[in-house]
Amino acid sequence: MDIFRSVHDIDDNRGFSMSDFNWCHGPYCHTKHTVDRVRGVKGSKVLRTRKIKLHNMRDTLSWWQFFCSQTCYDNFAHKYIEQVIAIAPRTECLETPILDPERKKHTHEYSWGNHSYYDTKIEVDETRQS
Ligand SMILES: [Zn+2]
Repeated sequence: MDIFRSVHDIDDNRGFSMSDFNWCHGPYCHTKHTVDRVRGVKGSKVLRTRKIKLHNMRDTLSWWQFFCSQTCYDNFAHKYIEQVIAIAPRTECLETPILDPERKKHTHEYSWGNHSYYDTKIEVDETRQS
């Protein structure tokens, strides 16, 4: 989060504040062939990374502030998965203490006969919560 936030402080001298938007962090965003990405003057056109306007998104941090699409998000996650996991590696499993699960049969009577199903109640054991 802090890595992304620091981008806001950069002034890239393009005449507007970096605090108004983020560049999409999708590593291939600038390679997608869509007309909204086309920028530049005739003879030197480019496909440019999409800009994400932040509007009122300041209060709620979400990945939509950093990625223009699910595809860009997925591309980022796929390309940088090792670094992302390195932030909080899971080296051992986690456990939630539960009460002994209770399997229960439910039967409903209909005009055409009975219908039964089972469900298993799983409840957290609050007395063993750490
Ligand atoms: Zn993008």
